[in-house]
Amino acid sequence: MYGKGTKIPIAEEDDLQLWPTVNSRWAYACSKALDEWLALAYFREKQVPVIITRFFNTVGPRQTGRYGMVLPTFAAQAIAGEPITVYGSGEQSRCFGHVRDAVEGMLRLIETPEAIGQVVNVGSNVEVTIGTLAEMVRDAAGSRSDIIRVPYAEAYAEGFEDLQRRVPDVSKLEQLTGFRFETPLAEAIDDVVADQRARLALSS
Ligand code: UDP
Repeated sequence: MYGKGTKIPIAEEDDLQLWPTVNSRWAYACSKALDEWLALAYFREKQVPVIITRFFNTVGPRQTGRYGMVLPTFAAQAIAGEPITVYGSGEQSRCFGHVRDAVEGMLRLIETPEAIGQVVNVGSNVEVTIGTLAEMVRDAAGSRSDIIRVPYAEAYAEGFEDLQRRVPDVSKLEQLTGFRFETPLAEAIDDVVADQRARLALSS
């Protein structure tokens, strides 16, 4: 799930694997895991109807690149004609799901009584490398930006380790609700590029 597990695809009941506490990156993962334990305890002990959703690289309009998120960052760079900064080799991959599908998946789960008390991955399982993503964004923006490789040591604080792959097992969401993420990545990229253009026009 939110750790460094190497098993692909990542299922809801897989063991959690985290780095030591000296590496601050994993504070985020641990806090989410604690929230899940608490929510499940409330469900078991107090019958609070909880459904735990785990999101995987959700993207779409109004997403900001301020916290380093890759797609709005690449879109803003491409539109500005600045270099598109691919960290590491660019061979690492992610599965990007459109926020519209994430909302639909959540709404379907809320309407599914069997989902109560369950942990469910909510995401796309269509994998793309970050190098390919950079090319797709550049093309979608009609940009002539260079695509440059930035070593991890320059991009991140010391001790940071990027995940090479993160692919969710999405069968539980589909079994429970009949729903799968369906928006193609190209459409998500178009939406984010259009959104970043609108922001740029507003701020200039
Ligand atoms: N990334 C990149 N250039 C950027 C920002 C991110 O190459 O300007 C890479 C990052 O190293 C990772 C991937 O894009 O391999 C996804 O990063 P993001 O922070 O969006 O999500 P996460 O790492 O949480 O999956």
